[in-house]
Amino acid sequence: MSIAHLADLADAAHCPRLVIKVGSALLVGNGQPRREWLAQLVGEIAAARARGQQVIVVSSGAIALGAAKLGLDKGGRASLADAQAAAAVGQIGLAGLWSELLAGHGITAAQLLLTLDDLEDRRRYLNAAATLGRLLKTGAVPVVNENDSVATEEIRFGDNDRLAARVAQAAHASAVLLLSDIDGLYDRNPKEPGAELLPQVRGVTEEIYAMADDRSGSGMGSGGMTSKLQAAEIAERAGIALAIINGTHPAPIARALDGDVGTVFLPLRKDAARKAWLGGRMRMLGVLDVDAGCAKALAKGGSLLATGITKVVGSFERGDPVAIHDPAGKLIARGLAEYSSAECAKLKGTRSDEHAALLGYAPRSAVIHRDQLVLL
Ligand code: GLU
Repeated sequence: MSIAHLADLADAAHCPRLVIKVGSALLVGNGQPRREWLAQLVGEIAAARARGQQVIVVSSGAIALGAAKLGLDKGGRASLADAQAAAAVGQIGLAGLWSELLAGHGITAAQLLLTLDDLEDRRRYLNAAATLGRLLKTGAVPVVNENDSVATEEIRFGDNDRLAARVAQAAHASAVLLLSDIDGLYDRNPKEPGAELLPQVRGVTEEIYAMADDRSGSGMGSGGMTSKLQAAEIAERAGIALAIINGTHPAPIARALDGDVGTVFLPLRKDAARKAWLGGRMRMLGVLDVDAGCAKALAKGGSLLATGITKVVGSFERGDPVAIHDPAGKLIARGLAEYSSAECAKLKGTRSDEHAALLGYAPRSAVIHRDQLVLL
């Protein structure tokens, strides 16, 4: 059963497994945990579990809490070193808080700290997926955050919105619920007269991205509306629904779901697991520019052949993920390369019957096989 409305997120038949993402601005006020609000939210999580739903929490707040304790300015975000130190201090309190409040409902909390690489490397992704699955089976509620203390810029999600979407994918969740400081996605800056809340979005297109207004961020967390749309894009491709609701009210989930106030991004297609993982990957190691004929062939479901490649950018090995750009420079697909960047450079623009001579060994059937290719 697929999800089409907000109310479906509270229905165990439609949504047996739900990821709930809570941002820093909701969890922390004046450097202190907003206990009362959080206690009510935990009550809602307990209610979801009582309805037969499994819940995973993605919680921010470590940097904000730690910064207050250490007396760091700019909420601990003045430098990466500050953020890393703040997170190390704040995460203890954050995990303790979730653990204590969930225990009040007889629920065991489990902490998982992940970096981008844990979910972008296929083997580590499967490992994290197995751990999440096992935890849920035991009845625990995994509370996930980015491992900010060790994640440097290159290996950071940076915002927990996309982390939540990737965690949902790894956990085979049915939906992600992003608690925001706004009711959902508006068709223009919500402060403009006539701005309307979109109840449902089918496909995060460029038009949808153009509606995101990031000036309204709280300044405490790092995810604005754009990162929420990026999360929605990862989710929809994995066949997972994503909803944005306003978390600033007491007991926000019941309020939004019962009152039908929020935006639901419908799941688009259910790619095979490996393809969905690839489609949601954030870091590509290279780019292959292709000509118009090749772009057309890919759109029809073909493999990527060397003859259509016009340029090779980056340094990658066989098996690495690469982006594919059309002649206008638009990202049209992602795939796992059958050849290294050096081999691709040798083969670009050539026909398959020339490859054995160019390489000096038996060539592969394509530069990216269609099974290892995701159209965007
Ligand atoms: N992981 C960060 C924290 O716990 C927050 C990331 C975000 O703002 O989304 O403070």
